[in-house]
Amino acid sequence: MNTALAHVVCARCGAKNRIARDRLRDEPVCGRCGQALLDGHPVELTDANFDAVAQGTELPLVVDFWAPWCGPCRTMAPQFEQAAAQLRGQALLAKVNSDDNPGVAARFAIRSIPTIVRLERGHEVARQSGALPAAQIVRFAG
Ligand SMILES: [Zn+2]
Repeated sequence: MNTALAHVVCARCGAKNRIARDRLRDEPVCGRCGQALLDGHPVELTDANFDAVAQGTELPLVVDFWAPWCGPCRTMAPQFEQAAAQLRGQALLAKVNSDDNPGVAARFAIRSIPTIVRLERGHEVARQSGALPAAQIVRFAG
């Protein structure tokens, strides 16, 4: 184990990337597909890629469970974007459409949306339901 390196799994292609911890804020890209890994925007996670990204990424992961028909989710979306920008290189923010990805939503027993869940190495460490302002999302991630 080299603690100077952090693993980040690419949400697009599933490749495991090793990134120097002091370069995490320099917008690293995936070594296989070239996708930005930590560019300050939320990534999309699905039933197909959730486990690989959640378990293989060494940064704190904050997942927003949402759906297109949900008004409070739409209200929170720009706040979540803003929090992702503020947390660039420190945490990975991700969105899961709970309608399209019933497997992950069921596993986390999501009963109301929006719900945000913080995971470390694939394990849930905190969750909160309801639309939150960016500042509270940033605090939740830390
Ligand atoms: Zn990739």
